[in-house]
Amino acid sequence: MEQMAEKIRGCTQSFPGYSPQVLKKNLINEFFISADDAEKLTVMVDRELNLGELGLAALELNLTFNCNLTCSYCFVHQKSPQDRMTIGTAQKAIDLLMERAAYPNVNITLFGGEPLLEFNLIKKIVPYALEAAKKHNLAVTWAVTTNGTLINEEILKFFSQYNINMLLSIDGGPETHDRYRRTRCGEGTWHKIADLLSLIKAYQPWLGARMTVSTEAIEKMREDFNQLVELGINQFIIAPAQGASCWSKEEIEQYGLNLIDILRDYLKLKQKGYPIFIEEFEKGEDEYTGWGCRAGRTSLAVAPNGDVSPCSKLLGLTEEGGKAIIGNVNSDLNMQLLEPFQNPISRQQPYCRSCFRQCTGGCYAVNYEQTGDHFTPSEENCLFWVVCQETKRISRMFRSGCRQYGYR
Ligand code: SF4
Ligand code: SF4
Repeated sequence: MEQMAEKIRGCTQSFPGYSPQVLKKNLINEFFISADDAEKLTVMVDRELNLGELGLAALELNLTFNCNLTCSYCFVHQKSPQDRMTIGTAQKAIDLLMERAAYPNVNITLFGGEPLLEFNLIKKIVPYALEAAKKHNLAVTWAVTTNGTLINEEILKFFSQYNINMLLSIDGGPETHDRYRRTRCGEGTWHKIADLLSLIKAYQPWLGARMTVSTEAIEKMREDFNQLVELGINQFIIAPAQGASCWSKEEIEQYGLNLIDILRDYLKLKQKGYPIFIEEFEKGEDEYTGWGCRAGRTSLAVAPNGDVSPCSKLLGLTEEGGKAIIGNVNSDLNMQLLEPFQNPISRQQPYCRSCFRQCTGGCYAVNYEQTGDHFTPSEENCLFWVVCQETKRISRMFRSGCRQYGYR
């Protein structure tokens, strides 16, 4: 009994990584109790944790839907220069985060469109949020996702003063990056970012990039990764451009093989002492975080006009149903509309329920674009899950081999 209590404590302490599904499975496998008893215990634990209540850890503030670029695979389909957040709306959104915070540390991501178009607003938001956090005895961490083209020294100084980390959207070398990431006049933007990188690195030595891989760029994926390393990028989120366009099985297979090539290059760089980090390569394939993502559970997104949705990527969808808006910070919020996102497992399709792979169910926005339902992943999602899990498995094998032979 004590061991079971210890197990439950362990699982719940990893909350928000806590997953009722994982707990249930562990109880059945480790303590040989029936599925019914495991279900009852899990429901009791959920009640204790108040999972029905919204407990926030993060907020995405979409400062504008406007952008100075016109990337064709951008998730914001309808960009409008009029869509800009006011300081009043930003303050109400921040108040919502502080009042509903369930963790001592909360994260605010400044998002867009291109958030740096609203640098004057950012300069007002940051002190306001820090003051509000102080009143609620909370600490704030920050992130900005930017296309990098508007960065200047004033912005870098401000970000460095407040410990605000930038994540650059840069897809690889000039050929790949400029295929989609162009200005309104059709000019490529790679050289502009590359020219700024030594200045950026002087302020942010650990510099992250979101490398979005389109089907057209699969052939050059490994080369693109290495070109970014040469530029001084040392943290990576590598992800396929999913949603609007579909990937064939062969393309997904090739994506997986390229990931393994990148993994080999990554481990060689680490062995040489190069400071580099890719979270996906450092995780084990068995580190399952449960069904569904943080959207609507521990994180919310606010649109420039104050509309609230579980995630920024949903706000970018064209169909109103896809956006899953639960109200507006300037008027009313209907928290009950978040119920499906707080309990996504209840929306699982039978084929997922009986699936042996422990997948997290895909991105709600991609699911909606591909299947018309947030909680119904497409077959493409299953295939990407398999290749990513395989890469993690190989990564763990390589890493333990490296340790055995004295490499770090
Ligand atoms: S791998 Fe595919 S079928 Fe299996 S749970 Fe995930 S989305 Fe569902
Ligand atoms: S997986 Fe998709 S829906 Fe979930 S937080 Fe990420 S972008 Fe948003």
